[in-house]
Amino acid sequence: MMTEYPLFPLNPGREYAILQGHPWVFSGAFHRLPPAIPPGAVADVATATGEWVGRGHLNARNSLAFRMLTRDPSERIDEDFYVRRIERAAALRRLLPPEVTGYRLIHAEADYLPGLVVDRYDRWLVAQFSTAGVERQRAVILAALERAIQPTGMLVRDDIRVREREGLSVAGANVVMGHVPETSEIREGAVRYLVDPRIGQKTGFFLDQREKRARIAELAPHFTSLLNGFSYTGGFALAGLAGNPALRTVNVDSSVPALELARRNYTLNGHDPDQHEFHAIDISRYLQSAAEAERRFDIVVLDPPAFAKNMAAKERALRGYESLNSQGARVVASGGLLLTCSCSGAVDYAEFEGAVRLALVRAERVGQLLGIFGPSLDHPTLPGFLEDRYLKALLFRLE
Ligand code: SAH
Repeated sequence: MMTEYPLFPLNPGREYAILQGHPWVFSGAFHRLPPAIPPGAVADVATATGEWVGRGHLNARNSLAFRMLTRDPSERIDEDFYVRRIERAAALRRLLPPEVTGYRLIHAEADYLPGLVVDRYDRWLVAQFSTAGVERQRAVILAALERAIQPTGMLVRDDIRVREREGLSVAGANVVMGHVPETSEIREGAVRYLVDPRIGQKTGFFLDQREKRARIAELAPHFTSLLNGFSYTGGFALAGLAGNPALRTVNVDSSVPALELARRNYTLNGHDPDQHEFHAIDISRYLQSAAEAERRFDIVVLDPPAFAKNMAAKERALRGYESLNSQGARVVASGGLLLTCSCSGAVDYAEFEGAVRLALVRAERVGQLLGIFGPSLDHPTLPGFLEDRYLKALLFRLE
């Protein structure tokens, strides 16, 4: 078959994963990849016998060489293509409740747009380009976003380390369309949050924890105190307060600016921050002193940053989860809840659960698992795309 894109055959049998819906092909699966092809060019792949398989972005400089864009040979990768993909992603998000005004609009591979993340904060979009493929088509993609979504402003953040793996530079945040305020306000049900899209973590907010925040809001009326470990801007505590305005909350985070924004979020939601606690301190030190003071909390949330970004760091990460969760479990009141999260891509569900199980033994606590949380509507994943399952959360009730 003749197409306008260069065609590269795979070694025999190596089309198997993509035919099953996996979006990646590693360089070793290709018969030959000429180094002259520009990183991120659009290319086609075929079976060893020349049958067309798919079209995607090719970067021969990365061992993760090919990312699938379409399985339709007649589909050109132009602005219209991106508009169609963005509209498809937007259609999925229309299933969210209307009172949710901050969500992930495009979740890369799982929205058939590898390398592209776009988060929506009310009328503003924040985009991240993490592969040479989307970087090469940046202008086309931004034009498509503007056409499909018509935001008030768009910001691009190039401060993500993964860009280096693709040979891209790491830089700051730039407004590329309209105007973007210092902080934008979003709603998640009854809760309002201020988001700093320029220097806030990720694109400004942990949108991927929304369902777990909602679960805490639902359970909060049964309890009186909540410890929000790794609180960032107060997300889980404010969700708890939405369910139970009398809840006593304690936020612990090593970042002073995050806690400052957390206090502003309390005020925004009608809670006096001076009636609650905000500690800019290492969580492990906080938990140790809380245990020594025999302080107990009805709900303990532990949502640390990724401990293992690669396989090599995995063993250390598992020991880290065990130690953190044993410290956390010690301060959970009898009959209280522990919501523990892991966003380490290299640690899978079973391994994480195993580490928490050991932690409970170490803390001499017995618990029941009440909930296992994975992907959510605006952070979809593809069947069999196990590399994508970074976020895991477990909800326990402890005796
Ligand atoms: N639960 C939050 C997101 C947490 S992100 C939400 O739903 O919005 C992880 C947070 O952990 C970051 O804010 C970071 O500043 C903080 N952090 C990282 N290491 C820490 C440590 N050792 N002790 C306390 N906080 C830490």
